Amino acid sequence: MAGDQHTPAPDYDLIVIGAGPVGENVADYATRRGIRVAIVESELVGGECSYWACMPSKALLRSGHALRAAERLDGARQATTGSLDAPAVLARRNAFASDWKDDGQVEWLSSAGIDLIRGHARITGPGLIEVDGRAYRATAVAVATGSIPVLPDVPGLPAAKPWGTREATSAAAVPPRLLVVGGGVAGTELSDGTIVTSDEILIATGRRPATLDLGVETVGLVPGEWLTVDDTLLVSGTDWLYAVGDVNGRALLTHQGKYQARAAGEAIAARITGAPVHAEPWGDHVATADHAAVPHVVFTDPEVARAGLTEREARARGLAVRVVEYDLGWVSGAKLHADGYEGRAVFIIDEDRQVIVGATFVGQDVAELLHSATIAIVAEVPLARLWHAVPSYPTISEVWLRLLETYGRPTAR
Ligand SMILES: Cc1cc2nc3c(=O)[nH]c(=O)nc-3n(C[C@H](O)[C@H](O)[C@H](O)COP(=O)(O)OP(=O)(O)OC[C@H]3O[C@@H](n4cnc5c(N)ncnc54)[C@H](O)[C@@H]3O)c2cc1C
Repeated sequence: MAGDQHTPAPDYDLIVIGAGPVGENVADYATRRGIRVAIVESELVGGECSYWACMPSKALLRSGHALRAAERLDGARQATTGSLDAPAVLARRNAFASDWKDDGQVEWLSSAGIDLIRGHARITGPGLIEVDGRAYRATAVAVATGSIPVLPDVPGLPAAKPWGTREATSAAAVPPRLLVVGGGVAGTELSDGTIVTSDEILIATGRRPATLDLGVETVGLVPGEWLTVDDTLLVSGTDWLYAVGDVNGRALLTHQGKYQARAAGEAIAARITGAPVHAEPWGDHVATADHAAVPHVVFTDPEVARAGLTEREARARGLAVRVVEYDLGWVSGAKLHADGYEGRAVFIIDEDRQVIVGATFVGQDVAELLHSATIAIVAEVPLARLWHAVPSYPTISEVWLRLLETYGRPTAR
């Protein structure tokens, strides 16, 4: 940890840089263990997720999903007589983004006993940071500055003033035509020389860590690079600097970053107070699930929900893999969700241990199915025991039984 008996007393035990969902959780979990914590934020407390990412984007998508779900059901379809009410959808989005005001989250920080420092933080040395000209000293520093969009090097693009995800999720009106650059196949196919006319251009070509203007070079790290960490979120080669959430590049997802934050906050507090650190796999102070059980939902229509390893990842780890697939359109519960329901479920089985190491569901309303798979993967529930986990009839979860039947009943061990 930074500091010794010859240096001045630290202003705080821990300073967290970035008050997004991840920084807030690092600060909260560390504070609960009795250490003194401050958090620095240069924009809105709550970060990208609350105002320009998860919440507004899902609020925008939900109304369209609900309308299309109704249109797929005979009886309900006849009641859908118009299209979406765009101003109402945008107003609902505004409420989910708290009208881009952070008063509520600032109040919560105060009630949790966390000091808020407004401004842009830069690291100036081990345990030292500067916020808009004022210096602070801390025993530990946690970087939770998130990630920023990558702008591809396309001639003329800056002059076209393209949208990033922020402009898209906070748009005040729906553009008549929107060209989306990115998304893999679609983006590639649009490079073929065809001239496309659009009212707005949305750039969605990946993200990079927010480490460019952070002073990391003062402690031997490279600006603009992801901060590499161990499973307690400690930055490699240091004993005082932590990197949590998007900025470490492990999983660019709010829930996974908050999971890391819970481990990091407690690990930092344990190290500062001299309490035992449980850094063994699946211990209290490590983010082991980052390697084995990250859940991820793509809220498209149909939804894509995945947890754990893909077949390729499992094989690369040397696992003896069997892939089991099932057509969700054959599941009674799914048929009730939509006339002509289409979807698919894929399970990746580790044959040696007879456990599920990965699962993917594609279809309408499959997102809520995902946590059952995450639990099975994290708990390493043997397939023989899963036969006793009976899905309710008629629900989409019945696909669990169908997948077990497709695999064949293993012998209980
Ligand atoms: C359009 C979109 C939709 C998404 N939807 C989902 C979703 O549905 N589910 C999901 O799990 N994830 C989603 N994500 C990803 C999610 O937004 C991020 O994983 C999450 O916000 C990361 O949290 P964070 O706290 O690490 O970083 P951020 O939320 O980016 O917060 C970082 C904070 O640090 C502050 N900061 C940066 N540098 C400094 C500095 N030097 N000094 C002071 N403050 C600083 C920033 O102002 C910001 O407030 C989405 C992302 C996008 C772009």
